[in-house]
Amino acid sequence: MCRAFLNDGRQKQLCDTCRASIPFNVPPFCQLCPRRLEVFTPDGICRVCAARSPSYDAGWSACLYDESMRRLLHAFKYSGKTRLRRAFEGLLNAFIDTMHVPLSRFDLSTPVPLHPARLRERGFNQSEILCAILRERYGLGFRSDILTRTRSTQPQAALGAKERWTNLEGAFRINHSNAVADKSVLIVDDLFTTGATAEAASRALKEAGAAYAGILTLAITNHAHP
Ligand SMILES: [Zn+2]
Ligand SMILES: [Zn+2]
Repeated sequence: MCRAFLNDGRQKQLCDTCRASIPFNVPPFCQLCPRRLEVFTPDGICRVCAARSPSYDAGWSACLYDESMRRLLHAFKYSGKTRLRRAFEGLLNAFIDTMHVPLSRFDLSTPVPLHPARLRERGFNQSEILCAILRERYGLGFRSDILTRTRSTQPQAALGAKERWTNLEGAFRINHSNAVADKSVLIVDDLFTTGATAEAASRALKEAGAAYAGILTLAITNHAHP
């Protein structure tokens, strides 16, 4: 980020100053989603969840999507800098440990899939890399073959909040319903914005019989707090 020379650059991808500059998402959190509760509500549920009753049951996002996080995720996704995995691993693990994210209540995790065409172009799914991090450190197994994109949606980044909800409607299909029936499934993605992706994925899982759906993302945007 700052282009400082790192003696131990093979071990870490960010200098201590840059790493410390990335803001974590801090509680109090909504009971249902990764949003910070800006005002006290008796049931601990944010305005958005109160209005939309999401299909997911709980959510966590580790960091705020500020300018530095935007650049890092962009480099990770579009420049193929998968070495950044280590930086994300540190951030994700620090958040999970500090906030006591109850990963043990989940039977498995599943990454939000890319459309096959985009996967071919990029060569990897960044969310699957995050799942692999969870498996390594916390022993939470994952399956990448459960959710499939049913149609190519426009990249969410190009759309406004309203279009994001409709863009993803019915955009996921479940394979292997037997793998999720009565299971607690953690959906993993890089970014939580409006919650539309999380909603479409968790609704599909619930329709396939999943008992509980959680969302875990590396970062959350400001406009997740409308
Ligand atoms: Zn730096
Ligand atoms: Zn909420």
